[in-house]
Amino acid sequence: MRSKLPNTQVSIFSQMSALAHKHGALNLSQGFPNFKSDPLLLDLVTKAMKDGYNQYAPMPGDLGLREVICNKIHTLYNNKFDPISEVTITAGATQAIFATITALIHPGDEVLIFTPAYDCYQPTIELQGAKAVAIQLAAPAYKVDWQEVAKAITDKTKMVIVNTPHNPCGSVFSKEDMLQLERLAVEHDLMVLSDEVYEHLIFNEAEHQSAARFEALANRSIIVASFGKTFHNTGWKMGYCVARKEIMTEIRKVHQFNVFSVNYPIQKALAEYLIDPTTYLGLGAFFQTKRDLFLEGLNGTTFKVLPSKGTYFQLVDISELTDMSDVEYAIYLTEHHKLASIPTSVFNRGQEDHRMLRFCFAKTTETIEQAIAILRQVGT
Ligand code: PMP
Ligand code: GLN
Repeated sequence: MRSKLPNTQVSIFSQMSALAHKHGALNLSQGFPNFKSDPLLLDLVTKAMKDGYNQYAPMPGDLGLREVICNKIHTLYNNKFDPISEVTITAGATQAIFATITALIHPGDEVLIFTPAYDCYQPTIELQGAKAVAIQLAAPAYKVDWQEVAKAITDKTKMVIVNTPHNPCGSVFSKEDMLQLERLAVEHDLMVLSDEVYEHLIFNEAEHQSAARFEALANRSIIVASFGKTFHNTGWKMGYCVARKEIMTEIRKVHQFNVFSVNYPIQKALAEYLIDPTTYLGLGAFFQTKRDLFLEGLNGTTFKVLPSKGTYFQLVDISELTDMSDVEYAIYLTEHHKLASIPTSVFNRGQEDHRMLRFCFAKTTETIEQAIAILRQVGT
């Protein structure tokens, strides 16, 4: 058998979570919360099941949920999307990304990605017989140089994938970044896949710069979101994508034969839960407290940090502490000190090691304090 993805390994998240489990380590590697989601949301799911929403949902998703999503985007980002033709509910952001790339990218096309890049983009691009062209960002700020982006665009470039707030860097795009992206996308007739799964996890009351805020950009973008990330239920695998009708029509052609439709009772529950904006508007402050607890704990250690501006991840620079590679040190820390993290060179396609580990601080205070105790022991 000839592999379609000869260079693709088991994901680093599966690897590190398995290693954490094997060694009974505290798991700050894979990005998921270890606290419960709102009991109201759980009750709404139970109610939807008891009310009989247990058969196939409509292919693009529950209309009530799509309406509430469009209202939310209109209120927050001042742009109108049509719930009938411009939103699709998906099995997490991952499936939205898969359906988008599969529907829109042809063999021989080029897609620009920024490394460190979330791990599902490249294999999905390669499955289409297309090429992921990586633009490497520099530690520790991981800012985009838009002139470099302009130089990387060829007549084969069809799409740019951006991610703000950024996993794993915790960096965010400014309004100026988005305007530069818009200018390039319009000039070169590019589509933009805007991965905004951490839209509500942004700190210091910064405004999330959604592609939806910029009209010309929104008209050529596919915006991807994840309810798992927003509402502490990553295991539900619930997300959605939003795009103009002509783009969404193509995405749905893939979606309907990839999964057809996704979990109905959860969609019903979310449609009701999302009506109250306080369910998501307080999340930035909630996670910032956790980030600050983690950062304060690292004060006075040899770990260097640049505070995360969004997501629930913090990068930690290990270069003053060890000569090991980030992969070696992540394994060492898990096996010998019972603390698991993610080595970020994997997001650089293994080509650059910035000696950064990613820690997920979506954890209870107790877990964060235990992690700090371990890091203080090894790093002071
Ligand atoms: N994009 C990014 C940047 C992510 O961190 C993740 C992981 N949550 C996803 C997409 C996939 O999200 P989901 O779990 O909803 O499939
Ligand atoms: N998005 C999660 C992370 O960044 C992992 C999701 C997964 O395991 N596929 O850690």
